[in-house]
Amino acid sequence: MFDKILIANRGEIALRVIRACREMGIKSVAVHSTADSDAMHVRMADESVCIGPPSGAQSYLSIPAIISACEITGAQAIHPGYGFLSENANFVQIVEDHGLTFIGPSAKHISQMGDKITAKDTAKALGIPCVPGSDGGVPDIATAKTVAADMGYPVIIKATAGGGGRGMKVAETEADLEVAFRTARSEAKAAFGNDEVYMEKYLQKPRHIEIQVFGDGQGNGVHLGERDCSLQRRHQKVFEEAPGPCITPEERAKIGKICADAIGQMGYRGAGTIEFLYEDGEFYFIEMNTRLQVEHPVTESIFGVDLVREQIRVAEGMPLSFTQDELEINGHSIEVRINAERLPNFAPCPGKITAFHAPGGLGVRMDSALYDGYSIPPYYDSLIGKLIVHGRDRQEALARLNRALGELIVDGVDTTVPLFHALLQEAEIHSGEYNIHWLERWLERNL
Ligand code: ADP
Repeated sequence: MFDKILIANRGEIALRVIRACREMGIKSVAVHSTADSDAMHVRMADESVCIGPPSGAQSYLSIPAIISACEITGAQAIHPGYGFLSENANFVQIVEDHGLTFIGPSAKHISQMGDKITAKDTAKALGIPCVPGSDGGVPDIATAKTVAADMGYPVIIKATAGGGGRGMKVAETEADLEVAFRTARSEAKAAFGNDEVYMEKYLQKPRHIEIQVFGDGQGNGVHLGERDCSLQRRHQKVFEEAPGPCITPEERAKIGKICADAIGQMGYRGAGTIEFLYEDGEFYFIEMNTRLQVEHPVTESIFGVDLVREQIRVAEGMPLSFTQDELEINGHSIEVRINAERLPNFAPCPGKITAFHAPGGLGVRMDSALYDGYSIPPYYDSLIGKLIVHGRDRQEALARLNRALGELIVDGVDTTVPLFHALLQEAEIHSGEYNIHWLERWLERNL
């Protein structure tokens, strides 16, 4: 059993992990940059260590600084949160070489899924349906033309090392292919230091449906249903819900079992998300994320389980605390991502919070590291809070979201809250009839 866990992250996710630790009677260690000395995660943890200057590269991504902080404080395990070092296989190896425990999957599984071509090959071998596409990397424009002609246009060119929606370009016809191919490659090189790209059939009207999975590392896997994350801007999620409004119990059971069995067969340990595009009743694998996702609370809400607690237990070598049969969906949950951004361009808007009030009441959860007088630093991502609501059904969850957004006060910076107020006026949001392109088109018309 762990006595002390170090959290290699900041913001709301650091708070989320500290909360789970406290409920489990485990001490928590926060790490922070000099820009985050006054941050809430530093205040809430039992101990804190300053690990470097503001830039993420020199602090939250500094492996020597984080390992040293473990040595100094006697922490036995590291929770990486999401982003930063959470999917860095090299980091996991170094953590283990120092006799510490990484709260997450093995380095092998992280690197297998971090390379999207290997991930697709692995998925295919495990019986998971994939998007039709190139057989591995596409080295040059001539090959790209052949692959696209075989598959049919439109096609999407994606970075093998991709993430965060970067390094992706669509070609509607052969005339667009050359530019799309070159742009995807140079973006991939700039963002990931690796210009390898691959190609997929570009689906015209899919929904983004992802399956939450959990493995005990001993060959047992379970699934916790799906999340629908179809409302996206620039391939980034802004509104997520569970269960998916268009997924039937039969579809859930079928794709869920395929995913849970795959996790068991891999011997996967911890939380993971298998992402699909869903069109005309078919699921197409796009990638697997080997970490806790930003949107995990909607799954927690409908199943009544604490996924961070489960991650910690599994890392301690304990069995999963639930079986597949014990997992039952209760009601509907929605999360909206509140970013410090100025509409209509979504420009980052750091600055001082002059007033903050979190909504409350039945079925409302606000995961945020904000407080009155806090200054949002300009160095990190713009997510400042997640508002999660739960209702007996989707309609009640939407009404509750509307009510909770009305109670929320964030003064001093611009946020994405007005976007959600506007979206709640739309018939399609209420009927659930949208796909991954809907929000971009709506933004073009309305902002
Ligand atoms: P990343 O790792 O950068 O997030 P993903 O492969 O998960 O990249 O894709 C992110 C988003 O990009 C998807 O949710 C979807 O909106 C869009 N996308 C990816 N692949 C396709 C495809 N083959 N057809 C249509 N849209 C796609």
